[in-house]
Amino acid sequence: MSTAQESATQLYSATLVRSQRITPPDSSEEVRHLVFQRGDLSIQCQAGQCIRVMAPGQHGNKHHPRLYLVADPDSDSAGGAEFALCVRRHDYIDDFNGERYPGVASNYLCDLKVGDRIEFAGPVGYPFAVPASRQAGILMIGMGTGIAPFRALIRHIYEKLGSWEGKVRLYYGARTGLDMLYMNDENKDLAQYVYQPTFKAFQAISPRPVFDAPVELDKALERNAAEVWEMMRAPDTHVYLAGVGALQPRIEQAMIGIAGSLDAWRQARETLRQDGRWHEVVY
Ligand SMILES: Cc1cc2nc3c(=O)[nH]c(=O)nc-3n(C[C@H](O)[C@H](O)[C@H](O)COP(=O)(O)OP(=O)(O)OC[C@H]3O[C@@H](n4cnc5c(N)ncnc54)[C@H](O)[C@@H]3O)c2cc1C
Repeated sequence: MSTAQESATQLYSATLVRSQRITPPDSSEEVRHLVFQRGDLSIQCQAGQCIRVMAPGQHGNKHHPRLYLVADPDSDSAGGAEFALCVRRHDYIDDFNGERYPGVASNYLCDLKVGDRIEFAGPVGYPFAVPASRQAGILMIGMGTGIAPFRALIRHIYEKLGSWEGKVRLYYGARTGLDMLYMNDENKDLAQYVYQPTFKAFQAISPRPVFDAPVELDKALERNAAEVWEMMRAPDTHVYLAGVGALQPRIEQAMIGIAGSLDAWRQARETLRQDGRWHEVVY
């Protein structure tokens, strides 16, 4: 995590109150929206921050700690006592024996039953600051479970604040249309905001998912180059990047093209960083 800052090593507990698969059954990816009720109300997380889930350890280790972004930091339904995570069930092929193994923490979380308790530390990282002015632009670029803090941010500005006058743009990539989190047949949470006059979402998928061809998030940005650049250059726009990891070089390349040169892009990004308007959680 590029801007990690752990505020506490103290452990907290939370109880699972809901677990919903948010990718359709015919998607090869299992991603779940998990809602927890916290035991200790003094711990508060904000959009852009993670918690460190202390999954039960293996091979004599007490814990297997892994970071997860908070998808809903402060669910109103329980007076702020709930928070949500968006977790992809991870597995991997062992290089040595070619066997498929389940990732420890993600499978532990995805297999939890309602009423089960987890331990966690945090919050970790800097919150995604909400611009002070409602006329400011909000430009979000992300991939996969990186959608979690964007969902929290979009809900915050349209539901808690009631409206947003600046442009709100979401560039979101997933391997296939089925894997578009919170925007598919299983869960349409984010689709409801397309009726907001200031909100637009641009989706990108991989042209050849079977061959692991990269998701064309760069192309989506390039198709809207004029608006993207205008937003990046505006004095009050905030830019948010989340979960893009491997896609970062392609996004960087697209931005150099959109800016016209490497220097112009670096300068624009530096200005955003210096003003505290560039927010990034990449993993
Ligand atoms: C800042 C940050 C935020 C994150 N937010 C999210 C989020 O919101 N949602 C989400 O789903 N994930 C998120 N992640 C990823 C998450 O933290 C975990 O890394 C992920 O879930 C996999 O953890 P795991 O315990 O399931 O897998 P692990 O068991 O840790 O395995 C992970 C990898 O380790 C390697 N490995 C492990 N054991 C072996 C072995 N015996 N032999 C060979 N290789 C091995 C493999 O490459 C495997 O792919 C985030 C990560 C970061 C850094």
